[in-house]
Amino acid sequence: MTRHFSAFGVFREGLRGHKGWAPMWRSPAPKLKYDVVIVGGGGHGLATAYYLAKNHGMSRIAVVEKGWLGGGNTGRNTTVIRSNYFYPESTALYDLSVRLYEGLSRDINYNVMFSQRGMMVLSHSEAEMEIAARTVNAMKLNGADAELLDARDVQKKAPILNYRDDARYPIHGAIWQGRGGTGRHDAVAWGYARAADRLGVDIVQNCEVTGFLIEGGTCKGVETTQGAIRAGRVGVATAGHSSVLAQMGGYKLPLHSYALQAFVTEAIKPVMDTVAFSPMTGSYFSQSDKGGLVIGGGLDRIPSYAQRGNTPEQENVLSGIIDMAPALAKVKLLRHWAGIVDVSPDSSPLIGPSGTDGIFVNCGWGTGGFKAIPAGGYLFAHLLANGAHHEISRPFDLNRFGTGALIDEAAGSGIAH
Ligand SMILES: Cc1cc2nc3c(=O)[nH]c(=O)nc-3n(C[C@H](O)[C@H](O)[C@H](O)COP(=O)(O)OP(=O)(O)OC[C@H]3O[C@@H](n4cnc5c(N)ncnc54)[C@H](O)[C@@H]3O)c2cc1C
Repeated sequence: MTRHFSAFGVFREGLRGHKGWAPMWRSPAPKLKYDVVIVGGGGHGLATAYYLAKNHGMSRIAVVEKGWLGGGNTGRNTTVIRSNYFYPESTALYDLSVRLYEGLSRDINYNVMFSQRGMMVLSHSEAEMEIAARTVNAMKLNGADAELLDARDVQKKAPILNYRDDARYPIHGAIWQGRGGTGRHDAVAWGYARAADRLGVDIVQNCEVTGFLIEGGTCKGVETTQGAIRAGRVGVATAGHSSVLAQMGGYKLPLHSYALQAFVTEAIKPVMDTVAFSPMTGSYFSQSDKGGLVIGGGLDRIPSYAQRGNTPEQENVLSGIIDMAPALAKVKLLRHWAGIVDVSPDSSPLIGPSGTDGIFVNCGWGTGGFKAIPAGGYLFAHLLANGAHHEISRPFDLNRFGTGALIDEAAGSGIAH
């Protein structure tokens, strides 16, 4: 049943102890068999389920999640959305995502708070300005929006930054993408979950996949903490834990997993209405609607599954922010956390058959897969429904590590977002 709450309705619910809220999705027990089982209830898994049902007319779909929806990286990221990559294959993928984000709130009837406040990648020297000009040209040739800003343009958009000539990293200009910005990460997970549930997808939380049912070399389903579930095809979208699943499924992925940290400060008055990223330090920040500064930076150096960050990297990230905007030095940090991200050798995602018949993977998004959730789900759904790639996901198949057709976006992926 759909229930709409006005502001008065919210107040009334408060008075009666919040007993009238209806769940946004069902919590069914898993059935014995589905056409497709998706492992991982993050943004990519949930979006895949939604597009499988919506675009491919499938109804016997389950998403199995070991914890709670969005409890992985989808609920832990710094919410930057952009498509300022270098290669045409990447722009095709990430710009599809930005376009899907542009219509997403309406499509799933859930406000994902996509705010196109723009994104700037700063240049700190004349040499970096030269590279920035090339990137802007490449982005335009590939069909994404891009502009080269000089220092004065940057100052107009972000007066809080440090424009002194004696700054450690003086600002010479920036690559600007006006259609980039931020979104609300929880809302993306919850919105896709609610929309998928309404199309009949079973979303099963607290259900960990512990193995795959392999018969005659082909995967026929998954073993879980809630029993075996048979499936025509299995899609794995488990981000930082993709290699753990690969070991269970008998396939190999060229991935390393690292902790990536983020920080949010106390709420302060509006000082920043765009996103600024400094490639020299890897630090970046934006300001949330609640007033907190949302800060991100580089990976912790050592591969790990510990879902917390280490102090040397905290110091790197925060000193980078103070270099960018010394006026923020006395703002207090409110919270800090980490997620486990899966990084591929060319910093591009892996979408395709896993190498074990019947298992398909969507992973390798590293530090930048929140922006890719709509496109990742859209393309993975196409692959799972048809057993064959959509043209946009084909270059991201694992076979590129055999053919050598790598999509090296180490610079475009911007270290950390
Ligand atoms: C601190 C930080 C900042 C980031 N900032 C940005 C940013 O600004 N912009 C951007 O685009 N990206 C950013 N990212 C990256 C982005 O968050 C991820 O790439 C994206 O969320 C991946 O989504 P996902 O659905 O693939 O994975 P996840 O959201 O991690 O979901 C995977 C799910 O699989 C589940 N799972 C794992 N193992 C099993 C199992 N055995 N059985 C069942 N379920 C299992 C997990 O519990 C998890 O919920 C950031 C990441 C971090 C950590």
